[in-house]
Amino acid sequence: MKKVLLLGAGYANLAFLTSLPKSVFNEAEFTIISRDKEHYHSILLHEVVSGARDKSVLFPVADVIPSQVKFIEDTIVEIQKNCVVGENETYLFDTLLVGLGFQSDSFNIPGIREYARSLVNYQEASDIRENIRKELLTLKNGEKDSLHFVVCGGGLSGVELVSSLADQLPKICRQLSVPYENIKLTCVEAMSSILPMFSRRLSSSAALYLQKKGVEILTNCKVLECRQDSVIVDRAGSREKIDASVVIWTAGVKGNKVIENSPFFTSARSRVEINEYLQPINQEHQEDMKNIFVLGDCGALKNPQTGKFYPPTAQIAMQQGMYLAKVIQDHFKGKFHIKPFKYHSQGCLCSLGEKNAVGLVGSTGEIKGRVALCIKHAVENKWRVKLKGLRGMIGSAS
Ligand SMILES: Cc1cc2nc3c(=O)[nH]c(=O)nc-3n(C[C@H](O)[C@H](O)[C@H](O)COP(=O)(O)OP(=O)(O)OC[C@H]3O[C@@H](n4cnc5c(N)ncnc54)[C@H](O)[C@@H]3O)c2cc1C
Repeated sequence: MKKVLLLGAGYANLAFLTSLPKSVFNEAEFTIISRDKEHYHSILLHEVVSGARDKSVLFPVADVIPSQVKFIEDTIVEIQKNCVVGENETYLFDTLLVGLGFQSDSFNIPGIREYARSLVNYQEASDIRENIRKELLTLKNGEKDSLHFVVCGGGLSGVELVSSLADQLPKICRQLSVPYENIKLTCVEAMSSILPMFSRRLSSSAALYLQKKGVEILTNCKVLECRQDSVIVDRAGSREKIDASVVIWTAGVKGNKVIENSPFFTSARSRVEINEYLQPINQEHQEDMKNIFVLGDCGALKNPQTGKFYPPTAQIAMQQGMYLAKVIQDHFKGKFHIKPFKYHSQGCLCSLGEKNAVGLVGSTGEIKGRVALCIKHAVENKWRVKLKGLRGMIGSAS
């Protein structure tokens, strides 16, 4: 039987496995390898940081994959021509699906890697929450008299994070008997507005809402350097120092470092360019890529209409996984003209804490307020139900 190896238990590969027709298990053996025993719902990691949720974003991989699929816990180090090197073992494959997700991109800004916290996986999210808690205790013990939490990046994840912190920190402060008035929250963005993917109307509405909640928003503010206790920025042409207790970097992501550590792939920003069949293109070793698919944030797919790469999102990762599940049997049979992948954007929503959201539904419809938040929650819950059936809804809010 053919050996199909899947790397990473994220949105792309789990959407693939949970959409496979049963008949495929007579044709191939499927093995999924992931560093983490649990799949984490990445689009909710900001809520793990703020304490709005915790373990409800985790799903044991072994519980959500079909029983015919083998799960191995290992950290992948390198992908080679016919095998994959893990920390524990080397794995052979006939067909490979790479779905290792993203890493933080510091753009080589000095001090970001050393002093800023990144938000890439569940462990990092819970470490940041612990870091914030420790800082709050220094306020309680009188070791510090004020705290400043700085979120760098006013894109989707930065804004969702700062909004969730603005909602949750007052509650945590009350529990710990810490004065919330002595805490400042800032979001730093290099562009002229936060959420630059939305219209001015939506991004201004989000900014105003956050400012009313006490969040300082610094736009046209470029991070030049991060230090242990501060961030150095260029703010409209002048160099400024912002004192900071905790700095969280959400301003850039790139593909997984396994891609850049694998000379087998030709890549840019740790992402492999792929065609509409999700297979690598423009590769030095193109001949050896026939049985390789790259999905989710590790793949760079061009929008045929604009010629630009689609931004990496869970939405496209899931659609790619579901597409591949439909065509993998054709691929096994060596059919060349399998249906190409077409991305259907269902929109993009940004939560602004527990009571508000802004975004686009479909390709143009702007939406904000509680209705937008309800749609966002419906999207999150759809994934839970895909993974666990209706059982996925139990305990989804904690
Ligand atoms: C705070 C935040 C909010 C977001 N909000 C949204 C949103 O609202 N909508 C949206 O569409 N997208 C959103 N995103 C982006 C989205 O999370 C990613 O695009 C998506 O997770 C990519 O899916 P993936 O399948 O490529 O990989 P992931 O889901 O990231 O999964 C990667 C998998 O690979 C495993 N892995 C990683 N390295 C190794 C290794 N070396 N060895 C073995 N296993 C490894 C991991 O354990 C994990 O199982 C958000 C991201 C963040 C951080």
